[in-house]
Formats: sequence, structure tokens, C-alpha cells
Amino acid sequence: MKEIVVLSGKGGVGKSSLTAALGHLLAEGGRRITLADTDVDAPNLHIVLGAEFDSSSGVTASNKAVIDYDRCSRCLKCAEVCKFASIIGGEEPVVISYSCEGCGACAIVCPTGAITVQPVENGRINLVRHGSIRVVAGELGIGESSSGRLVDFVKKRARQEAALSGCSLLLTDGPPGIGCPVIASLKGSDYAVLVTEPTPSAFSDLQRAAEVLRGFKVPAGVVINRADMHQKSKETLLAWMAEAGLPLLAEIPYDPQLPQALAQGCLGVVIYPDAPSSLAIRQLSETVAAMLDDGH
Ligand code: SF4
Ligand code: SF4
Repeated sequence: MKEIVVLSGKGGVGKSSLTAALGHLLAEGGRRITLADTDVDAPNLHIVLGAEFDSSSGVTASNKAVIDYDRCSRCLKCAEVCKFASIIGGEEPVVISYSCEGCGACAIVCPTGAITVQPVENGRINLVRHGSIRVVAGELGIGESSSGRLVDFVKKRARQEAALSGCSLLLTDGPPGIGCPVIASLKGSDYAVLVTEPTPSAFSDLQRAAEVLRGFKVPAGVVINRADMHQKSKETLLAWMAEAGLPLLAEIPYDPQLPQALAQGCLGVVIYPDAPSSLAIRQLSETVAAMLDDGH
């Protein structure tokens, strides 16, 4: 099975809607695919797809300090050592759960052994369906930490689901940014699709995302969304891509029908198949399908 991850560095450039449309078109072309939504802070792939909810389960991918007050001598050494200011020391120590990173330093210094670091539920994995496509979506709990570990869980579950259904492709909607969740989402990927737009801020974030991919030696290509927004910025982007050895996979023109489709809870490629953006995305899906057929 091949794994492709869609990343952008920057949020708001159309990564999730492009992943959804790409997944839909590849499945329409007869490919068995599983989608993974690893944007666990704001999962919305299922909404873009208009997918049906299937099932949900809690995930324990975080650790928090827990104090046994019967053993606590109120020395407050734990509050002094916590680098995250997650223990408030008044008359007795209180753990601020949302900021506790589960590092265990407080448990080490506690003279009475009153602190243990325990696993806690910090998110959910939701299974949804869109036609023949299974979607595995992670959802971080409000104010919870360890999103990178949750993404790791989502990828593992998605691989299991893909193997069970005999899928040949796992397509992952990656999180924005360049941090731990992004690294977890691209781990094990054969190829990355980088989505950007011709603006200075998207360009800067693309460069950072490309650097992460270089570090992990994941080959990648670029999709320029809203490509006709600013010609000079696009030329700068294309020149940098040539220098960085990143091929152009597709240019998707700005097309008001795309947001109109999203506003209706539908995919543009489904309800406006002849729109300029839909034709460009269809061309992209054919490029990706050809790459997969060639064994890339
Ligand atoms: S270090 Fe241990 S004994 Fe001291 S206040 Fe904290 S929990 Fe209580
Ligand atoms: S586990 Fe680490 S972050 Fe959490 S309260 Fe203890 S020292 Fe602070």
C-alpha cells in the first residue's frame, strides 16, 4: 500500500478541500482508498466530504500528573520543579491538567511518592464513510495536549482500516505548521503533496514545510491553489521550486464555484464538474494516479 500526505505549512490554502476532492476522484477512478484526517485540532475532512458518521472511540495518548493527597506532605517541591507552571502551590499542590505535559519531573522530586503520571484520554478517533471511502479522523479534546501522539494513533488506525479493506492507497490530510503533529503525519509516507498559493506568507510557510520534508527524505510536488491570484508572486514561487527541485503537480485557478460548493456542503468536483478548478483537480488526480501506477 502507498501512502501520500497532503501538507501546506500554512492553514487556509485549501489543503483539506483538495485532499477530499483528490480522494473522491481517485476512488471514482476505481482505486480503493482510505483517508486519514490528522488535522486533529480542527478536523473537517468529513464535513468537506459530506461523509456519514460511523463510530467513535476515545484515545489515551497523553499523560498527566495525579496527586495522592493522603501521601502528600505539602512541601510543594513539585510546584518548584515544574517548568510548565502546571502545579499551583497554595496550602496544597493542585495540578493544572490542561498545561501538564506529563514529563514526570514532579513525581521524581516528590519525597513521599505522592505523585504518579497516569495516562488520560485526550482525544477521539472517529470513523466516517463517504461512498466506498473509509475516513479515519482524529479529534483532540478541547485544551488537551500531545496532538503528535494522537496523530500517530490516527495513522496506525488508518493503516489497519486500509489493510482490512484491501486499500492500495492511504491519503492523509496533514495538519498545518511544521511541528510534532506534522512530523507524525508524514512518518511512513511515500510522497507528499504540498499545497500553497501565490502569497508571500504561504510561500514562507511552504519553504519551512519543504525543509521538514527534506529532513525526512520524503519526495514531494507542489500544487498552487488560486494560482492566478498574483502573477509576480507565482513567478517567485515557481523559480524557487525549480531551484529546490520540487515539481509542479497542478495549478488550480481561483474559482468562485469552489467556495460555493463548499458552502453547500458538497465537493466542487461533484456539483460543478466542468468548473475550471474541478478540471484542474481532475487533471491532478490523473497525475497522482499515473505516479501510483508507475510505482512512485
Ligand atoms: S512534592 Fe509530593 S509531597 Fe510535596 S507537595 Fe508535591 S505532591 Fe505533596
Ligand atoms: S508531569 Fe511535568 S508538567 Fe506535569 S505537573 Fe509534573 S512536572 Fe509539571
